[in-house]
Amino acid sequence: MSNRTFTMIKPDATSKGYTGAILDQIIKAGFQVKAMKWIKLSEEQAGLFYDIHRERPFFGELVSFMSSGPIVAAILEKENAVADFRKLIGATNPAQAEEGTIRKKFAASIGENAVHGSDSDENAIIEGDFFFSKLERF
Ligand code: GDP
Repeated sequence: MSNRTFTMIKPDATSKGYTGAILDQIIKAGFQVKAMKWIKLSEEQAGLFYDIHRERPFFGELVSFMSSGPIVAAILEKENAVADFRKLIGATNPAQAEEGTIRKKFAASIGENAVHGSDSDENAIIEGDFFFSKLERF
């Protein structure tokens, strides 16, 4: 069990003006921001980040969506961070997400689902390292 996770506020949410409301919900849930940047991925960078999904039928859609506009990438800290953050964001498909979760409130579809949250401690480290140097995290 680790105390850090990695998140992205995805292009659907940044373009609809939800960034502030989503960050507010994350911070009010007890997560501390340890690193953060506003950045736009190229298709190649989005493909590298989601390399594990390369063989999935939705890979092309995912990569073009994730490079379609700016995102907010962040490393968050809290006890039991990975599991608690997955609970806070809700199911991948917002139609199945619990009431009050970030995806239920802000996501439109299974593809454009407002936020990313690491699914394991190991991936939280890999994903945080993808975006942030040692100088950029505190
Ligand atoms: P997560 O861990 O809840 O983000 O879900 P996954 O690891 O299964 O999928 C990664 C991301 O791929 C999701 O957050 C969605 O943005 C996207 N995705 C998953 N399933 C689908 C799908 O059926 N269609 C599309 N277009 N995108 C999907």
